[in-house]
Amino acid sequence: METVTIQLKLLVDLVDLWNKKSHREYGSPNHSHSVPGVWDSDHGELANKPCAECVLYDEARRIVAEAHNAKVLAKYQPCGCIICTCEDEIQCQGCGAKHCGTHPLGQIPNPVYADA
Ligand SMILES: [Zn+2]
Ligand SMILES: [Zn+2]
Ligand SMILES: [Zn+2]
Repeated sequence: METVTIQLKLLVDLVDLWNKKSHREYGSPNHSHSVPGVWDSDHGELANKPCAECVLYDEARRIVAEAHNAKVLAKYQPCGCIICTCEDEIQCQGCGAKHCGTHPLGQIPNPVYADA
């Protein structure tokens, strides 16, 4: 398969847009099948067939999710931030994490990623 490199952010923004547009996080924002990803039974020739368009959108979502999972910030960032490594996503449990204070929280300049 031919591949092109696109910025992850572009894909993330697109996926966000589709999710917003369709108020759900699966399938094509242009479709609302009664069964996700399957044409409705009153849809003539396509009835009950899997919807190829919805598959495309879900594939893009899958790539974004995969990229998110693969990229874990390294604990020590060049700016001075120490990333929380606690299992708790709401509150730090005292792992020694800190924010360097030179940029908005969560917007680390030139972030370094841990090897997945
Ligand atoms: Zn569809
Ligand atoms: Zn920082
Ligand atoms: Zn922590």
